[in-house]
Amino acid sequence: MRRLPVFFLLDCSESMIGGNLDKLKKGLQDIVMDLRKDPHALETVYISIIAFAGKAKTIVPLIDLISFYPPMLPIGGGTSLGAALRELRYQIDNKLHKTTPDCKGDWKPIVYLITDGHPTDRVGEELRIWREKYAQKVNFIAVSLGNSSDISVLHQLTETVIILNDNHQESFTHFIKWITASVSSHSQNINKDIALLNDYNNVLNLSDAKNYKPYDENCVVLVGKCSNTIRPYLIKYNLVDNVINLSKDQQQKYQLTGCYPVDNEYFDWSDEIKTSILVNTNQLIGTPTCPHCSNPSAFAMCSCGNLLCIDHTGLVTCPWCNQYLEFNMDMPNEDFDVIRGKG
Ligand SMILES: [Zn+2]
Ligand SMILES: [Zn+2]
Repeated sequence: MRRLPVFFLLDCSESMIGGNLDKLKKGLQDIVMDLRKDPHALETVYISIIAFAGKAKTIVPLIDLISFYPPMLPIGGGTSLGAALRELRYQIDNKLHKTTPDCKGDWKPIVYLITDGHPTDRVGEELRIWREKYAQKVNFIAVSLGNSSDISVLHQLTETVIILNDNHQESFTHFIKWITASVSSHSQNINKDIALLNDYNNVLNLSDAKNYKPYDENCVVLVGKCSNTIRPYLIKYNLVDNVINLSKDQQQKYQLTGCYPVDNEYFDWSDEIKTSILVNTNQLIGTPTCPHCSNPSAFAMCSCGNLLCIDHTGLVTCPWCNQYLEFNMDMPNEDFDVIRGKG
């Protein structure tokens, strides 16, 4: 039986934490559950998942629908789309069955790229290789969750760029059903070269080129460690975008949207090169509590430059550098700069 390989390239960068990542995981489960009910899909569809944050890895190698088990999605700092495309090329070059005189190879693969941000690595060279050598070999659908993605980069990969503008569960569910239907219909009409997937109503085509950004402008994500459990957490702030007529000396403000526990795997998925872009605490609205130990503030900074949680006493050992610290809890907080993550 010839296989229909379906690759999912999933953005697991820290800006996806709190909502999008959970939705994505659930969405994958739904897709696989529904495809299993379709006899054509069941026979032909093979799924592979490539996750990317600061690094990119195949977390599910091509596998049939029955054996597929939804993976834990990692989370990390950075949106290395270039690394993800490199990994995809590797999979296409090495893991697909090629047609031989005795045997028909795999069908043309379908790739779904799902992202919410700007690439933080330099993707130019990868985009060029992709366009020259791979674009014709696959059906590529790029999906932007919200409109913070760099649409011009996505458009360089494919003409089919879908923007899911609103954040409602309904429209996400609709989108997941559409993926299922498109894979399903593709597996049934596989030997007709049908114009794939042009029925989605939010398809946009843009061609202006924007430059790469070393971080995601639309949110600020900071990493801290719990001083009691030594485990990391992510603090996420979203851009307050209703500021009208922002003058030059005014700075953008960001509102706290949540503080999420993560595990140490976060550091494995983050790129090693730290940004040196600072955000001042006067731009950040809201202080989180620690998601691991419930300490009242997860936003204390050690002289080593890292964030940690503190209780009412203000006495703590830094979980990053082990020095003993005394915070004066009676003093009003002064504003300070923190290094922002890549998002
Ligand atoms: Zn804590
Ligand atoms: Zn420290």
